[in-house]
Amino acid sequence: MALQIWLNGKLVDREQATVSVYDHGLLYGDGVFEGLRVYNGRVFEAQAHMKRLFNSAKAIRLTIPYSGTELLEAMEKTVAANGFEECYIRLVITRGVGCLGLNPFKCATPGVIIIADSIELYPPELYAKGLSVITATVVRTHANSLSPRVKSLNYLNNILAKIEAIDAGASEAILLNHEGNVAEGSGDNIFVVQDGQVLTPTTTDGVLEGITRATIMRLCQQLDIPCKERSIQRHDLYIADECFLTGSGAEVIAVTKIDGREIGDGKPGPITGKLLQTFHRHVRGH
Ligand code: PMP
Repeated sequence: MALQIWLNGKLVDREQATVSVYDHGLLYGDGVFEGLRVYNGRVFEAQAHMKRLFNSAKAIRLTIPYSGTELLEAMEKTVAANGFEECYIRLVITRGVGCLGLNPFKCATPGVIIIADSIELYPPELYAKGLSVITATVVRTHANSLSPRVKSLNYLNNILAKIEAIDAGASEAILLNHEGNVAEGSGDNIFVVQDGQVLTPTTTDGVLEGITRATIMRLCQQLDIPCKERSIQRHDLYIADECFLTGSGAEVIAVTKIDGREIGDGKPGPITGKLLQTFHRHVRGH
């Protein structure tokens, strides 16, 4: 059976899941989205994702035509229709069909798309070995331009950084903000470990408030590992004992090389390993 996609209230075959060329989501990247995970048949941190989605929508003056509960039901229905126990969900809200001008208020109804599918951001061997990443030359969008706290459909800032990583033969790019502080990866949050302390950039340094990031911060607390939000410079990356990235797509993955420099001893570190293991147990309810 073809993959079932939820499109504006109906489940349709993947081939029939098409949108108008006049949708402002396509024409202008005008819209918001979420990337969620299903573990053991349950949407992980559904409420936190809904809160972020509705905040993103509010920030761009977009009214989502469903409640959080309705969207969650629709996601569960899509997952069940495809028979998944574990999968990734992409929930997309576009501004909707309008005319060839920027005015978003001329778009009649927002478009709502739910894709449930498998995802593999990095090959399994990199989860064991750790990633080689670079710091990008392209600067993270200024919060007064388009706040990185909005999970908008416009990912070009991140895509330009990702291209730099690919060109350099690296797996991921880390963006710095306009002040030179470390912000985040193109599609994930970053953590470093220094002298037994776990550090991650503050949300005001140009960071999406990651659901996985929040989970890791909570797990640190449970494990009695000191964890703090703080501004981090490129220097902190280079002298870190350990480094790792978090995201719904990537989950938790070690970084063992940054700009060609080995992090720690060049292998995933013990705190990263402990958090990765605890994370996998936690998301499956153990
Ligand atoms: N930063 C960016 C830019 C992202 O795209 C993502 C992935 N959604 C994250 C961080 C991680 O957020 P989360 O843990 O909620 O997936």
